[in-house]
Amino acid sequence: MTGSGKDSLFGRIALIGAGLIGSSLARAVRRDGLAQHIAVTARTQATLDKVVELDLADSVGFDPAAAAKDADLVVLCTPLGAYGAIAEAIAPALKPGAIVSDVGSCKQVMFDDVQPHLPDGVHMVPGHPVAGTEHSGPESGFAELFEGRWCILTPGPEADAGAVERMTELWRRAGMTVEIMDAGHHDQVLALTSHLPHLIAYTIVGTAIDLEDELKKEVIRYSASGFRDFTRIAASDPVMWRDVFLKNRDAVLDALGRFTEDLTALQRAIRRGETKTLEDHFTRTRDIRRGIIDAKQD
Ligand code: NAP
Repeated sequence: MTGSGKDSLFGRIALIGAGLIGSSLARAVRRDGLAQHIAVTARTQATLDKVVELDLADSVGFDPAAAAKDADLVVLCTPLGAYGAIAEAIAPALKPGAIVSDVGSCKQVMFDDVQPHLPDGVHMVPGHPVAGTEHSGPESGFAELFEGRWCILTPGPEADAGAVERMTELWRRAGMTVEIMDAGHHDQVLALTSHLPHLIAYTIVGTAIDLEDELKKEVIRYSASGFRDFTRIAASDPVMWRDVFLKNRDAVLDALGRFTEDLTALQRAIRRGETKTLEDHFTRTRDIRRGIIDAKQD
């Protein structure tokens, strides 16, 4: 058993998926006794074996419906593309009053792919702990991942206030500052702050891969000059990011449109030798970095 019951927020929690984020949540829940029972599912035996070895769960299995049965809270911790099938599978097992949440990087997907399957009396509270690394799998998780970071909840207008409060408390106890936001707004903001930077990193590293061999060797040798930071971001999980771009297509395309215009403006400034345009631009961007450091988000 996980929690003593005294400080626990939930009886049974089902975590569907136990990668970086699911296993980090399991660790935080276990550390602070936030649930009396943690049920974990994954697709592969290797992941389940790791979860058992790391002692992250009270029960493990392949079947999301079995894990969701009698659960007070079910959290989807898989890539976004799996949400629809999982929601369909768990729906008949959910008890009235259960909360269904997630940790996904896009939020409208919960309304599109999950909500239509949920029976009446089940409360959906989508969530996004804005914390992560480029690593995947249960062995890469750690309970402190969430500390000092934002968690964005995007309940719909009809959401149950009690369910939202319980999810807020869960993430607060995991060390996060919780913000409530509209799902569409979340997806627009994250398209700029997270999805676009990843796309740029994937592009730059892809450009280097396509260079002829000799030049590629030089890029790797001198990568500390900036390229290295892009390679870290571009090492993020391919399936997770494939799904982020497909599920947040409109907002990403909008952000990409703005970015392309700005890039073209800088391209023109370089071609024309417009010293002041370049210096002014780089001075403004430096201020953003200072703002991030001041906000302790660096
Ligand atoms: P991850 O480390 O790759 O783990 C994914 C987990 O989902 C694994 O346990 C995997 O099981 C399981 N899974 C994969 N496909 C599945 C399917 N079709 N059906 C059932 N289970 C499936 O991923 P992660 O980084 O934790 O990301 C999980 C979610 O968190 C994503 O939605 C992502 O958008 C969000 N998120 C990620 C980050 C980040 O920095 N990584 C940050 C914030 C939010 P097996 O191992 O057995 O295949």
